[in-house]
Amino acid sequence: MIDLKKLEVWFITGSQNLYGEETLKLVAEHSTQIAKGLDGSDNISVRVVYKPVVKSTEEIYETIQQANISENCIGIITWMHTFSPAKMWIRGLNILQKPMLHLHTQFNRDIPWSSIDMDFMNLNQSAHGDREFGFIVSRMRKNRKVVVGHWQDTEVLGQIETWARAAAGWHDWQGAKFVRFGDNMRYVAVTDGDKVEAELKFGFSVNTYGIGDLVAVINAVTETEVDTLITEYEATYTMDASLRKGGEKHSSVYEAAKIEIGLRTFLQKGGFKGFSDTFEDLHGMVQLPGIAAQRLMADGYGFAGEGDWKTAALVRAFKVMGSGLKGGNAFMEDYTYHFDPNNSLVLGSHMLEIDASLANGKATLEVHPLGIGGKADPARLVFNVTGGPALNASIVDMGNRFRLLINEVEAVEPENDLPNLPVARVLWKPYPDMKTGCAAWIYAGGAHHTAYSQNLTTEHLQDFADIAGLEFLRIGKDTRLDQFRNEIRWNEVAYK
Ligand code: MN
Repeated sequence: MIDLKKLEVWFITGSQNLYGEETLKLVAEHSTQIAKGLDGSDNISVRVVYKPVVKSTEEIYETIQQANISENCIGIITWMHTFSPAKMWIRGLNILQKPMLHLHTQFNRDIPWSSIDMDFMNLNQSAHGDREFGFIVSRMRKNRKVVVGHWQDTEVLGQIETWARAAAGWHDWQGAKFVRFGDNMRYVAVTDGDKVEAELKFGFSVNTYGIGDLVAVINAVTETEVDTLITEYEATYTMDASLRKGGEKHSSVYEAAKIEIGLRTFLQKGGFKGFSDTFEDLHGMVQLPGIAAQRLMADGYGFAGEGDWKTAALVRAFKVMGSGLKGGNAFMEDYTYHFDPNNSLVLGSHMLEIDASLANGKATLEVHPLGIGGKADPARLVFNVTGGPALNASIVDMGNRFRLLINEVEAVEPENDLPNLPVARVLWKPYPDMKTGCAAWIYAGGAHHTAYSQNLTTEHLQDFADIAGLEFLRIGKDTRLDQFRNEIRWNEVAYK
């Protein structure tokens, strides 16, 4: 569903005609080598495509115009091997609609002490050429990522890779469609928001479909299709005999499988990248989608419960940004607390729908009453989640802007069995500590719903926020509450 190798980043080198043909030939040669080096690197997941050196206002404008309309170009990397007078860049940068990374590098890593002469000096000018370029980008108030270091340096490659993944997530949002079955869970504030503004700022659309539209597709699912999927369930998950074919509670699993097939068909036919539903609007459905949502998320769809389209879209972006990396990305909710002063923990979960890609080992397929919604007992996958560094992220609508809030956390293996808890669960410790982390989150207006990631870092999300023009607030190991509250206060002025 997600293939990063189809995506391209264009490598654009700036220069000028002043240097003469011989120097410009060398500039092109070096630039080709760098682009090839990045493209061939195992550390970079997208293609890096060399573009002919740009030397004039017209060439810059033309190249950026092409980048804008290229379907697979997710961003540009710019580098000034020589000096490239930056007034030439104004027209091009003015129309740039793709993310930009400014690579402040140099072809040679070392100064050739014994042979360096003025020819060398005239060719290898990024130390000042990139400053001239940086000025105009700053003067034009353009967001970009600046990466400094030799282009073969592992850390530099890692920073480019992180940005490219963020750009891929952004690219995927452009024109993306999300379905909201029914409306918001009644009276909930934080999950609601301005869908028009979101489409304008983020490029994806969220539209409501009546649950009846989905029910019609579910009802058209054939017995053979359901039978095939149940065979897959039985082969993949631990299941009690009562739930297997012929068991007395098998009908619940049958209905769940039918819902999964119907939902998948609905999403595929409509070209949707994710969805949200609500247990308050399930007319004509037998149960709330549990295992269906869990498995669709594991396959790359965005999802969040209760009409929360912002989190559904964020989960989808996480799926794209984390594609191919070890670990999972999921819809999550801060559910309940363990306030032991020596071992404070958050238990994250949801009514049903924690992403099956987080499962530590084989998940168990279970059927239990939901307790709310008044529908039949839904089938869901129950599992624990492995420990390790992770983060929670929330997009909130502040009225005049969208805010991306993240909390770095440390997930821990459960120390106790939870035999009566019929849902998948994660335990984590928020950084810098439970009290500061939770207080900062609440001061920032962060939602109870989040996108939870085991493989994305603060840097991925900082890059993503810069590209998306999102306000970015981070709660991490070094967060102090007084400073964090000031940051919120100062941002109010910045976004006035
Ligand atoms: Mn919820």
